[in-house]
Amino acid sequence: MIKLCEKLCREHSLTHEECVRLVRGHNPETDYFLAQQALKLRQLIFGDTVFYRGLIEISSFCKNDCKYCGLRRSNKLAPRYRLSEEEIFSGVEKAYSLNYGTVVLQGGEDAFFSPEYVERIVKEIKRRHPEIVVTLSLGEHSRDVYKLWREAGAQRYLLRHETANKEHYDFLHPKEMSQENRLRALNDIRELGYMTGCGFLVGAPGESVETIADNLMFLQSFKPDMVGIGPFIPATGTPFENESSGSIKETLFLLSVIRLLLPNVYLPATTALATLSSDGYEQGLRAGANVIMPNCSPERVLGKYTIYDGKNIS
Ligand code: SF4
Repeated sequence: MIKLCEKLCREHSLTHEECVRLVRGHNPETDYFLAQQALKLRQLIFGDTVFYRGLIEISSFCKNDCKYCGLRRSNKLAPRYRLSEEEIFSGVEKAYSLNYGTVVLQGGEDAFFSPEYVERIVKEIKRRHPEIVVTLSLGEHSRDVYKLWREAGAQRYLLRHETANKEHYDFLHPKEMSQENRLRALNDIRELGYMTGCGFLVGAPGESVETIADNLMFLQSFKPDMVGIGPFIPATGTPFENESSGSIKETLFLLSVIRLLLPNVYLPATTALATLSSDGYEQGLRAGANVIMPNCSPERVLGKYTIYDGKNIS
């Protein structure tokens, strides 16, 4: 197993069969080795810099019904809110005053935030602070909409692919959603010149060694600029509310593998890690992550963006 890990460190690539072997056979010794190598590589490329992104959760409404998500439209227990423009701008000011070079506007697919409304917000942020990088994470849209937002000044887009395995994708999502459209969206985003982020859930119901290997292969071929992965955490009021959470250990192992596969990637230590463990951020950084996304949403909505239970709001 160590030989396979050494090959990954040397060549920064794995075949599907090797991914399967690694996912199936990794152990505390190989996890430690991979984390050391991932940390070394991260330090070689980025030094000790940790990149901060100010996260502003603009709407907890969503038209979709993803089975794993607390914000799914059929979850009557989810608190719903929308930020006003002024609240969004005050989140941006907070991020700016804390010297975060990037803001991330994240939300469910909420028609209230029409393409033109988001366009206006992005333009206004760029007018106020031309140097701030605007990242959007607002779900699936048409190419024209992504183009509109790109031309308004948005530079990055985060859209998790969730799982690269088609059957698994269909299991996690309602009929009207398709992996084909998710990949179409990711390709449009990339072609329009956004720095592009994707990612997946670790330990989601229906996950297998094969689906994890599919995810790693997808990352190798798509070569995203950013990858967000976090342990699955069940959300009350969803079909998966009684499922177990994904494992921190498995997430840390995968963070290290992703750093080694994609040395230059921006890799957040996600809130889900910090939700399951009080030192989750630190553990993520030690495993090869290099991004933290502190929440810059207004106080009145903290804790209401309930994609899963018990979400860390720091
Ligand atoms: S995962 Fe995203 S698209 Fe799916 S229900 Fe949740 S907020 Fe909506």
